[in-house]
Amino acid sequence: MEEKKKGLQRPQNGGQHRQPRRGFNWFTMVYLVLILGMAYMWSTSGTASPLKKEWMDVKENMLTSGDVEKLVYVRNEHKGEIYLKQSALDKYKNLYGGREPKAGPHFYFLVSDKFDAEEQLDTLVESLPKEVQFPVVVEEHKSYWGPIIEWILFPLMLLLMFFVFMRPMRNMGGGAGGGIFNVGKSQAKLYEKSNNVKVTFKDVAGMEEAKLEVKEIVDFLKNPKKYTALGGKIPKGALLVGPPGTGKTLLAKAVAGEADVPFFSMSGSDFVEMFVGVGASRVRDLFRQAKEKAPCIVFIDEIDAVGRARSKNAGFTSNDERENTLNQLLTEMDGFGSNSGVIILAATNRADILDKALMRAGRFDRQIHVDLPELKERLEIFKVHLRGIKLAPGFQIDFLAKQTPGFSGADIANVCNEAALIAARKNKEAVEKQDFLDAIDRIVGGLERKSKIITPEEKKTIAHHEAGHATVSWLLPNANPLLKVTIIPRGQSLGAAWYLPEERQLTTTEQMMDEMAATIGGRVAEELVNGRISTGALSDLEKLTKQAYAMVTYFGMSDKVGNLSYYDSTGARDMAFSKPYSEKTAELIDDEVKRLIEQAHATATKVLSENREGFEKLAALLLEREVVFSEDLEVIFGPRKGGVDPNKMLREEPEEVKAEAEKEEA
Ligand code: ADP
Ligand code: ZN
Repeated sequence: MEEKKKGLQRPQNGGQHRQPRRGFNWFTMVYLVLILGMAYMWSTSGTASPLKKEWMDVKENMLTSGDVEKLVYVRNEHKGEIYLKQSALDKYKNLYGGREPKAGPHFYFLVSDKFDAEEQLDTLVESLPKEVQFPVVVEEHKSYWGPIIEWILFPLMLLLMFFVFMRPMRNMGGGAGGGIFNVGKSQAKLYEKSNNVKVTFKDVAGMEEAKLEVKEIVDFLKNPKKYTALGGKIPKGALLVGPPGTGKTLLAKAVAGEADVPFFSMSGSDFVEMFVGVGASRVRDLFRQAKEKAPCIVFIDEIDAVGRARSKNAGFTSNDERENTLNQLLTEMDGFGSNSGVIILAATNRADILDKALMRAGRFDRQIHVDLPELKERLEIFKVHLRGIKLAPGFQIDFLAKQTPGFSGADIANVCNEAALIAARKNKEAVEKQDFLDAIDRIVGGLERKSKIITPEEKKTIAHHEAGHATVSWLLPNANPLLKVTIIPRGQSLGAAWYLPEERQLTTTEQMMDEMAATIGGRVAEELVNGRISTGALSDLEKLTKQAYAMVTYFGMSDKVGNLSYYDSTGARDMAFSKPYSEKTAELIDDEVKRLIEQAHATATKVLSENREGFEKLAALLLEREVVFSEDLEVIFGPRKGGVDPNKMLREEPEEVKAEAEKEEA
């Protein structure tokens, strides 16, 4: 079991930021200093806390009262401090809120610096009757703590703060050596040849065209003379474009593995740091390291983090630091000779927003597109990831490929691992079909929420809602064919209907309209059955609105707005506040969007009321079984008219699979 898991785990590159902090904790130090400072302030604010008196009040009432034991005049503060006789303290007790006043001074007063206090006080005291006279002491207060705080403790505190706040950044810039002076070093992870994590083309399933493209790079790295002898120049870099998880990193690693050269891996976002100039310096460092190790492959993931088109959105959103980094990258790519043996592969899922300068000849002059795998490719990927898994006898792999439309390679790897874990949890000998189905459900919808409390009333509403989606999509020929529908709550959702996306490149207006009708089918079902609606349609409505807006403003599918597209492939308008159309057009767009959605609503209402019987049957079946598959829909409504019949598709095996199955048997 252990071994299986190892083979399946996705490479993880986390961890380097999460090292536990060892040794001295700087935070403790800061707290200590803060507490010391507060203690000092508290002690000087005086536990005795003398009360303030006006000089006139002191002169006329207090000095003559006979309660004064001594008067201290602090020359440098122009302040007189009055100490009371022990016997007189009771008289003033209520001034201190009932508490016993401390040893003194008990009162103080302030005089102006024009007032010659020493002389005046002496004469004043002498003029008093003998029995109330008291000594007058003149002092200068020298504070020892004040200067210490000011000159030593305060700067110390600042210094400590500086260190504490810099620390996380040091970690970011750290790498092995750490230290604040290393922020400019690149943090590329180096996979040496000696590392036994060698990836080859055998580990990369499908992607035939992409593999073909990169094979040339492998060939060059292995045998550069063959190319240079003829005067040919090898591309310095290639850009891998495709959605996340489709194996771009894997492909780059396989190139390095096949050519048996070192592989530097770094993410575009690693270049972006809050310090000015760090990104550029990291780029420089990366290329320096790479040149030392040449021939080698440098892989930059998510290159759009630095490679976004420059200065389209000039003004307050422009990011000079990113531009500097990008400029440095361009300079470095120009800087090394094309035959130096360093090849740069970069990955992105949005090639359209990249700066055009990156794509110029001599830089990333090749684009390799990596798409989500199709049926046959998914089968291949499953085969790669099922290598280490013990399958139940008679297991059909092609079934898995059919059940996972729209899955990326990473999702498939995840399904295989999850299925093995589920089977292990159930103490099974081998992994079975049901384990894979559970794994797929889990990856699509999140964890099953058995504990979620749903009243029978709600459950019925949910069943009707989902049955609404299912019925409309089954009966409208242009909607995506339904694969299955469930009312098991998972993650955030209470139920779900899954469709088989036809693997198509273009979508027609009719398809869009039918899909929108299916999307609103849930709400329409609630209207028909309950006569009232619920919040359960939130995500449906969100999707619907987005799609309708896309139809009108991107695809030019509305007659009133016409063949206009406000789509911006450069991504530069992401931040803009102004719309590229007039107020009048904006109103028109809103009207058209509303009309489209009303049309979808009408279609769904028509379909559901005309097929009320079947729809109710389906809802009852859902309530009973919680999961309903496309076969059950066929039993209720008959085979699908027009469009794709998922059952037919699930039944028939693709030619290649049959051929291979025979081969394996032979
Ligand atoms: P990307 O870089 O495109 O986001 P990765 O290369 O990191 O994707 O892929 C993640 C994981 O998905 C890989 O480690 C691999 O296990 C699996 N995978 C993706 N595509 C394929 C494929 N074509 N063949 C085999 N495994 C794949
Ligand atoms: Zn819904």
